[in-house]
Amino acid sequence: MRNLIIAIVVVCLGAIIYLVFNFFVFERQKPVFQSHSSLPTHWNLQDDLSLHFSDASGIRSYSVEVLLDSQILFSQNEVVLNKPKTFALSLPKPLTELKDGTTLLYKVCVNDWSNTNFFAGNTTCVDVSLVIDTSAPQIEILARSPKISRSGSAFVLFKVKDIALDSVTLSNGKNEFRAFKHTFKDITLAPDEAVYGAFIAWPLENVLFEGSIRAVDKAANKSQILLHFPKNLNVPIRKSNIRLKPEFLESKLRSLLDQISDVRYDEFADDRERFLFINEQARSKDSNQILEATTTTISNKSYISFGISPFAALKNAIIVGYFGDERSYYLDKNLVSVAYHMGLDLASVRNAPIFASNGGVVILRQYLGLHGNTAVIYHGFGLSSLYAHMSDSMLKVGDEVESGDIIGYTGSSGWAFGDHLHLEILVQGHAVSVQEWTNPKWVEDNINAVFEQAHRRLLERVSF
Ligand SMILES: [Zn+2]
Repeated sequence: MRNLIIAIVVVCLGAIIYLVFNFFVFERQKPVFQSHSSLPTHWNLQDDLSLHFSDASGIRSYSVEVLLDSQILFSQNEVVLNKPKTFALSLPKPLTELKDGTTLLYKVCVNDWSNTNFFAGNTTCVDVSLVIDTSAPQIEILARSPKISRSGSAFVLFKVKDIALDSVTLSNGKNEFRAFKHTFKDITLAPDEAVYGAFIAWPLENVLFEGSIRAVDKAANKSQILLHFPKNLNVPIRKSNIRLKPEFLESKLRSLLDQISDVRYDEFADDRERFLFINEQARSKDSNQILEATTTTISNKSYISFGISPFAALKNAIIVGYFGDERSYYLDKNLVSVAYHMGLDLASVRNAPIFASNGGVVILRQYLGLHGNTAVIYHGFGLSSLYAHMSDSMLKVGDEVESGDIIGYTGSSGWAFGDHLHLEILVQGHAVSVQEWTNPKWVEDNINAVFEQAHRRLLERVSF
């Protein structure tokens, strides 16, 4: 009896071992290949390029055939040691020199340790096309602004030559800026050349400015050149003290908190708390929404073709507040908060019409806590303009505006103590000195002359 039980146990164990063994040895799962979308399309022949496979029974062998114009250039067959469950196949580099732009076809097959298919195993084959690109992009500056000031902007147009560009960016040493492709209608460039342009900012909070342009192609070849601007570090910052009058403050805080806060007016301890909420929390919430609109929703479409007009949003306006003003707020002789004013305040009459000086598309249109009724228009090359404290606006997100169109009407919505327009200019999310963009001479020298100079340089080149 005892022997019979042992025999049954042995048979059962044998059956289990046999089934488990068969499961792996005759499994029909093909080696899994990484997704095709993660593969590069170009190769600089410097970096190691690997294809990744995985298989539960282990990788047994692989074969690689390299074809050029349907002719086999060379082939390789190897057995893989140690039955790895994951395997990175390093693509063999061609031994002969090939011209940039040549397309190689890699036909790769990998098979596993399964005994299925009469012991041949499961096989996965993939075809990978790679364009040889060993040259780094060539960057040539065509024209740029004559100088840059702290808190200000500059503009640059440049040419990039490469068979397959991936990204073109500018840096000020701290922040990155996307560059945008630009076409001069009357100029035809070589197929591997393109003109790019970008506004670049030197934000007030950055002490240093180190400009550069960087281009990376699809084969990961990189180029970087310095953008030398004469720099003007000393920009005047006006300091102003604002005394908050209690009776005035109360009415403004009451209506503002009703509109923007979940916390009721009476739930704050005093006016100081209410004011801090508006000036700090609501300010940073506004900034985040503006930053998101002016950095994530920008498109490649440009409404600037050959220069812009100075921003003159309000007719017969007087300036009541400058960009960069350092404003200290006092309540009963006590300093409660300090903030930098990131726009230009313009006033004329109540409900004055606000005009678009340049074409663009509306990328933000909503009520913000501090800015009140706000519209942001995107113009191109990363440039946006913002109009705040409006009493009314007919625009909605996605609307296209042309120079001369009415954006809305001035008012005192949000944190405003009188009917005025708060105008901001933003370069890829960074608020910059508005005084520059409203100054006709600055606009002419820094933007329109740059377009003309770049255009002239390209024309001279073409005529040769
Ligand atoms: Zn303002």
